[in-house]
Amino acid sequence: MGYLRGFMDFSRKDQKTRDPIERIKDWEEYTIRLDEKDLKQQAARCMDCGTPFCHTGINFDHSDIGCPVNNFIPEWNELVSEGDWKHALERLEETNNFPEFTGRVCPAPCEGSCTLAINDDPVAIKTIENEIIERGFDEGWVEANPPQHRTGKHVAVIGSGPAGLAAADQLNQQGHYVTVYERDDRPGGLLMYGIPNMKLEKDTIDRRVNLLKEEGITFECNTEVGKDITREELKQQYDAVILCTGAQEHRDVPAENRDSKGIHFAMEYLTESTKALAVDPEKAPIHARGKNVIVIGGGDTGADCVATALRQECNRVVQFGKHPASPEEREEDNPWPLYPMTFKLDYGYKESLEANDEDPRKYEILTQAFEADADGNVKSLRTVRVEKVMEDGKLVTKEIPESEEIWEADLVLVAIGFTGPEREVLEHFGLKLDERGRIWTVDGTKDYRTSEEGVFAAGDARRGQSLVVWAIREGREVAEQVEQFLQTEETADLV
Ligand SMILES: Cc1cc2nc3c(=O)[nH]c(=O)nc-3n(C[C@H](O)[C@H](O)[C@H](O)COP(=O)(O)OP(=O)(O)OC[C@H]3O[C@@H](n4cnc5c(N)ncnc54)[C@H](O)[C@@H]3O)c2cc1C
Ligand code: SF4
Repeated sequence: MGYLRGFMDFSRKDQKTRDPIERIKDWEEYTIRLDEKDLKQQAARCMDCGTPFCHTGINFDHSDIGCPVNNFIPEWNELVSEGDWKHALERLEETNNFPEFTGRVCPAPCEGSCTLAINDDPVAIKTIENEIIERGFDEGWVEANPPQHRTGKHVAVIGSGPAGLAAADQLNQQGHYVTVYERDDRPGGLLMYGIPNMKLEKDTIDRRVNLLKEEGITFECNTEVGKDITREELKQQYDAVILCTGAQEHRDVPAENRDSKGIHFAMEYLTESTKALAVDPEKAPIHARGKNVIVIGGGDTGADCVATALRQECNRVVQFGKHPASPEEREEDNPWPLYPMTFKLDYGYKESLEANDEDPRKYEILTQAFEADADGNVKSLRTVRVEKVMEDGKLVTKEIPESEEIWEADLVLVAIGFTGPEREVLEHFGLKLDERGRIWTVDGTKDYRTSEEGVFAAGDARRGQSLVVWAIREGREVAEQVEQFLQTEETADLV
């Protein structure tokens, strides 16, 4: 490294954030970029440790170690610390098709595995990644780069989330004609209609999709495969098909009165709220204004519901989770370099603390029943407290006697995850599924071939609900395999 003492001279400084009370009055991104001096100092904190783990991208014991797309992190840290942003961008683009997405929404397993994090705060890797790509756009270095030759081969990608977009980008760059089919009205998958605007502004997705279009990729939106176009038509028109349809089959709460009015799946709420932003946020069909909102499910989707409800000026929002609060420090079974399972104050929780003087998270709580008024509208929830206890050598969740509570609610959002990919399109293709209902692929790891010749699968549809960065990695890897498959067919027809 050019500057050897960075980790001793500078402390960690992350992206700044807008004032929580101010930012809940709008839907714009809540982060603010650092200035150049800070960024160079932050990059100079990288120790060039010799055996870095930050870039390894291994999933070990259900935990991530390092960056799943194997970004060349120490290299670009050095280039940024020297002010050589252009070369940093070139290195970043070699491994990550969409750093502007991961730079905003990735939970940054790289930072949990940073060597500096053994006894200090990690390098602000994600912030630096985002700045490299944004500077690239600002300077005009990121521009459409269509392939010089076309092979004459045609590939269909079903689903335009990060997995589908990455696969399409890679194959288009190889010279194949790529068409992406998307049932929604805009490309992006959960980037567009899951992750809220304040984390990832939708212009950022349009900016990338427009580049992909300029480079020659065709997007067919409002087109549901299995209904608007069939498997037979696709197989006739294309040399290979890749399914990147995500894993959006909802998990539900099997409680009494679940069919009361005012109880919705989180995705329905988040999608409608984001769609309304393009017209009028007040016109969102499910709106939280003045309501007591309860979010069931302690994960990130629930956190996004909290932040959305605050922007819609709810009266109060609470979020139920069945697990205890995470510890402040790593526990013994969660050592470095695994992803740290420690207490975090996500943006929505911080906003609730500032606006309502309350952390909305209520831990170790289970919903037993919903109660409705005479018109069938939800009016409250009955819950019970739970605890984890050892029984016959196993950790089990037990209800605590006499711990029932009643919570007033006018709007309930169910955010307890997804059971796997939606079945219709998979049944339409007649594909084999694995024991968890995901698309079965040949060896389940780095092989993306499904049970049908010429049909491949990647992203959440294959691995189950995961992260944007894993979807990008799967999109890149499936593209490599499709490329090999196309080469084994007759010689490419170069034009
Ligand atoms: C609310 C929420 C917030 C999240 N926040 C984060 C975050 O902050 N950071 C992070 O890393 N990850 C986050 N995730 C997870 C991340 O978004 C997913 O892991 C990722 O988007 C998966 O990408 P994918 O391409 O496999 O599928 P998806 O993004 O789900 O895209 C699948 C696409 O396929 C389309 N499709 C499905 N069936 C058909 C069909 N028959 N015909 C045509 N199109 C079809 C769908 O409409 C969709 O657009 C979040 C998830 C949710 C639900
Ligand atoms: S993609 Fe995620 S894991 Fe990889 S460098 Fe960026 S923030 Fe870290």
